[in-house]
Amino acid sequence: MTGSPLRLRLDGDALVANWRLLRDMGGDAACGAAVKADGYGLGAREVVQRLAGAGCRDFFVAVWSEARALADLGVPVSVLHGVRDADMADRPAHARPVLNTVAQVQRWRAAGGGACDVMVDTGMNRLGVAVDDVAAGLLDGLEIETLMSHLACADEDVPRNARQCAALAGLRGRTSARRLSLANSAGIALGRDYAFDLTRPGIALYGGRQRPEHAPIRQVATPEAQVIQRRRVRAGEIVGYNATFTAPRDTEVAILNLGYADGYLRCFSGKGSVRVGETALPVIGRVSMDMIAIAVDAAPGLGEGDWVAIDYALPETAALSGLSQYELITGLGPRFDRVWNRPSTP
Ligand SMILES: *Cc1c(COP(=O)(O)O)cnc(C)c1O
Repeated sequence: MTGSPLRLRLDGDALVANWRLLRDMGGDAACGAAVKADGYGLGAREVVQRLAGAGCRDFFVAVWSEARALADLGVPVSVLHGVRDADMADRPAHARPVLNTVAQVQRWRAAGGGACDVMVDTGMNRLGVAVDDVAAGLLDGLEIETLMSHLACADEDVPRNARQCAALAGLRGRTSARRLSLANSAGIALGRDYAFDLTRPGIALYGGRQRPEHAPIRQVATPEAQVIQRRRVRAGEIVGYNATFTAPRDTEVAILNLGYADGYLRCFSGKGSVRVGETALPVIGRVSMDMIAIAVDAAPGLGEGDWVAIDYALPETAALSGLSQYELITGLGPRFDRVWNRPSTP
């Protein structure tokens, strides 16, 4: 296979270290992993193999096609969007639905039930059955593994967090559920009360930091792009679409194989930066579909075919771009070769 001129360097040690840190923050609670959207864009299979090797036993995807893609790995997978009629026929053995609606609960019962999870809405008004319906017996007789809810504002310090926490705690013992679960990455940092029996981190596994408690979280993914061409731009000449950069003096410029079609969006025009060793180099002019330009006077040896690392630490890059950490990591496209620093142990 010929390598792509664009690669995503992935640090499997950092991924596992992040999971262990989040697990320990949750005290006695088990620690799962959200691997929807292809492991937030890093590759769900590779993520699952590494975290399963570290002891993770609870994985969360959004839809059934994602569960099927993991079926041969033999790990339990919960499907967050529940189950439609169309999903009933082709369900891998290790996957179970997270039931979200009265109709989903009825469908599951009618099909003979079996192990399932249930989402209860404690105030986010996104997915989940109502607390009152649970109290009225909606879930009676179901074989529930995990009764879960989801925090709307876990990355903020607002009273809503404690209210949602209390609402879920109030359901302990009211259903057959073996476990309760509430916290995502930010929720884990809110304290032990929020961990219940199982936590469900996603973004922090992949290098996201949303609260001060996440300070030790390590960056996992670093985009790298090859230089296609190096050129000298004379003072007063322009670079790129719409001439948004004019060279203030003679300037050395390199064109890189990375653009907005790869998820490096136009908000990085004139703002982003890359690294050659310790040297930071600025993105100049507009981001094109498949290319960016960088000023390389500070990197005299850099030439065609050389690799540069894109600055992509999630919290800092979110602050710079106005994109969320989630958008930054899930947006990295299919043209990246995803290169892990060591093979996973099967
Ligand atoms: C995506 C998701 C998570 C993980 O959230 P992060 O903020 O990425 O940690 C946990 N639970 C549910 C229900 C989710 O949809």
